[in-house]
Amino acid sequence: MSRQPLLFTPGPLSTSLTVKEAMLKDMGSRDFAFINAVKDIRSGLLRLAHVSKEEGYECVIIQGSGTFGVESVISSVIGEKDKLLVLANGAYGERIAKMAKIHRLNHEVLRFDEDTIVAPEAVEKFLSANKDITHVACIHSETTTGLFNPVEAVGEVCKKYGAVYIVDAMSSFGGVVMDMAALHIDFLVSSSNKCIEGVPGFAFALCKRASLEKAKGQARSLSLDLYDQWAGLEASGQFRFTPPTLSIMAFQQAMQELALEGGVAAREQRYKTNKKILDEGMRRLGFKQYLQPEIQGHIITSFLYPDSPNFRFDEFYRKLNDRGFVIYPGKLSKADAFRIGNIGQIFPDDVKALLEAITEVMKEFEI
Ligand SMILES: *Cc1c(COP(=O)(O)O)cnc(C)c1O
Repeated sequence: MSRQPLLFTPGPLSTSLTVKEAMLKDMGSRDFAFINAVKDIRSGLLRLAHVSKEEGYECVIIQGSGTFGVESVISSVIGEKDKLLVLANGAYGERIAKMAKIHRLNHEVLRFDEDTIVAPEAVEKFLSANKDITHVACIHSETTTGLFNPVEAVGEVCKKYGAVYIVDAMSSFGGVVMDMAALHIDFLVSSSNKCIEGVPGFAFALCKRASLEKAKGQARSLSLDLYDQWAGLEASGQFRFTPPTLSIMAFQQAMQELALEGGVAAREQRYKTNKKILDEGMRRLGFKQYLQPEIQGHIITSFLYPDSPNFRFDEFYRKLNDRGFVIYPGKLSKADAFRIGNIGQIFPDDVKALLEAITEVMKEFEI
């Protein structure tokens, strides 16, 4: 087998051979190994968020990509008399705003520039002036740019105003130490193919049970009904509809490998090391970052196109791709940039190899 490509993207990511091997056996949805894996994963994910069933938290797995998990929460937990405040400073915040519109939820959107973080003072001002807001949704790692929003400070504001707090921690959960209770989060959403390093197939919502129970009977979609999905898993350990069996088996293996690596803290350290090597190498090559370093997270970085007429992104991408390195296009509304992720089965030597390939390609461009 030829060498696997290395994915420097925000997901799907490079996965270990053993994670891929966990998918080699056909698996029925009533197989004991599968039912046990689901049970294992549901309690294991709560542990990763420093909470448990005993402390009043639940894990609901939702088939589909990460967006399906966010939409399941957004379309299930905001009641007819409730009102959602969406905090947006990038494409993923805007995606939640779009869900709110499609599901005709009472909602407001508080926007911030793409190169700034959500300001907790502005959230506080908004909540004190709009007492009808019952729920607040915020992105943790805004993958559009790579910034980290201050989820802790926003959580304090939500607690003070009694708002239910929904966090899209899709691209950070498993790669950043997070204590869901300490952050006052009611609903935290992530997916199988991000920092836990599994393959695509499902999203998961970690929920405060008291908040989840209020979602009973108010979903706006059958397949994305968060409460019913939970009730089904609780009653029989089974999914309501065809589960992503092999993706679940791969994820169970991925969670064991996360524990072997030393848990979330160790993984966070590896990603930070990747980022440090990448930053230094790209700086030496003359690349500038889009964000100020204070607000930049360690998951993914946006680099501005070099200021040279010789640079063509499509060709840059293809030449790296031909060498087995997959990077990611930009998604910024105001600047031309591309993105490089530090997550997945990517190690310091892989980042160094990527930097060597970029050096070669830039020479070919005569930049
Ligand atoms: C990856 C990601 C999602 C989900 O995207 P899918 O393509 O649906 O998996 C949502 N929010 C953020 C911040 C993400 O990085």
